[in-house]
Amino acid sequence: MSANLFDILARNIADPDATAIETLTAGTISYGDLIARTGRMANALTGLGVKPGDRVAVQVEKSVEAITLYLATVRAGAVFLPLNTGYTPTEMDYFIGDAEPAILVCDPARQADLQETAGRAGARLMTLDAAGGGSLTDAAAAAPDAFETVPRQADDLAALLYTSGTTGRSKGAMLTHGNLVSNAQALREAWHYTDRDVLIHALPIFHTHGLFVATNVTLLSGASMIFLPKFDMDRIFEAMARATVLMGVPTFYVRLLEDDMLNAETTRNMRLFISGSAPLLAETHREWQARTGHAILERYGMTETNMNASNPYEGDRVAGTVGLPLPGVEIIVTDPETGAELPQGEIGMIEVRGANVFKGYWRMPDKTAAELRDNGFFITGDLGLIDQRGYVHIVGRGKDLIITGGYNVYPKEIETEIDAIPGMIESAVIGIPHRDFGEAVTAVVVPAAGSVVTEPAIIAALEARLARFKQPKRVMFLNELPRNTMGKVQKNLLRDQFAELYD
Ligand code: ATP
Ligand code: MG
Repeated sequence: MSANLFDILARNIADPDATAIETLTAGTISYGDLIARTGRMANALTGLGVKPGDRVAVQVEKSVEAITLYLATVRAGAVFLPLNTGYTPTEMDYFIGDAEPAILVCDPARQADLQETAGRAGARLMTLDAAGGGSLTDAAAAAPDAFETVPRQADDLAALLYTSGTTGRSKGAMLTHGNLVSNAQALREAWHYTDRDVLIHALPIFHTHGLFVATNVTLLSGASMIFLPKFDMDRIFEAMARATVLMGVPTFYVRLLEDDMLNAETTRNMRLFISGSAPLLAETHREWQARTGHAILERYGMTETNMNASNPYEGDRVAGTVGLPLPGVEIIVTDPETGAELPQGEIGMIEVRGANVFKGYWRMPDKTAAELRDNGFFITGDLGLIDQRGYVHIVGRGKDLIITGGYNVYPKEIETEIDAIPGMIESAVIGIPHRDFGEAVTAVVVPAAGSVVTEPAIIAALEARLARFKQPKRVMFLNELPRNTMGKVQKNLLRDQFAELYD
């Protein structure tokens, strides 16, 4: 039997008339309609010369056609490669040169800028605009519905997804049909997803969160999604009246909390609020529960592995943790130097093994060999610990670890203490080069509006709470922390900004 992700999704459809996607401007699309659309699009792709294993690179706005293109690519046995809409033509040149796709689909506004890039890589350039129109749509409109899905093995590639580039240059993660199917199944089970669910889909679809977690779980369950082009407070409140699930990055929850509309009544129809992609502040978790009665369910994943851990659906959703390993996923903590497994409770490198773990980095055999062990464990680059109850706690990224005067300092611990100081909204703790210490612990903080907290007051407040070597040498104030589209704090930008602080 074919292990093609599309076959497995399609096989689960009980009712072709059931709604798959609801949009604000393009009507409602049933499962039957969605399947027919993927057939036309898959025919268009093969007509354009796309063969199994070829990459289909896509930098487009969110639309039903874009989701159709994802499914059609997988259906045609090709490899879906979505790219952040924020990437500049220069950045695109790197990705396209690296991935060598058979076609590149872009917004018509980008066509002139990308012509050369596509030409150099031997990719055919097609267009798709935010409203779903363009040369690709035209090609699909003329094609028949019927398409014989290309059989795939579980180990064949379904997608090439570049990492967010938070810690360095983005790497292409090779994800197989087996990776995506196993993770969608694990999440459906873990989150009790059914065909009665209605997801508010307000995430971008060029990232694992909005593309795989949100879309695959919904389609595998025969559920439906209300497709919002982007995060839009008013639309989300409107949708909550008839939706059941929201998947968001932490910033979604922070922003919704700023609206007086958020209360138990406006969230009454909802059964689940899920957060991931970046750490959710324990404070946000508590405030959300106090206001709505719902405990946000935080989960942990990454481009290379899909989702690894999730707080339980039934049972304690513990603020500040990412929960327990998902069914079929093993998580261990190892000594970053020796790779030996550490005893429970100790901080070290988080490693993950399971059917969810990717096949390796695209055209980076050395990096793959360095991060993917022979025994199947992937070295995530995140530092954390597993507590007595088995909950995983993330204390920061290995690359953000501060080594000061020979001591290891985990930023999360200091950030948690700072965030608890009255008048503080959030903080980022980084290491800045320092003559005596190697790196000096440095706090960058965002004060609440009207707050009068000063640098000496923060340092004084931490004195009683943290060992001396962990205390920040300096505290810098900003109005907000730099974040990328997925809400991840860009500590590299902060390190650059304050690089000369101790010169
Ligand atoms: P790059 O690998 O290119 O530096 P990236 O790691 O940010 O970028 P992604 O794969 O999008 O790219 O993000 C995965 C990372 O996001 C994880 O390794 C982890 O550091 C972080 N992350 C995801 N979910 C959570 C969470 N719930 N809590 C804390 N961190 C999280
Ligand atoms: Mg990463």
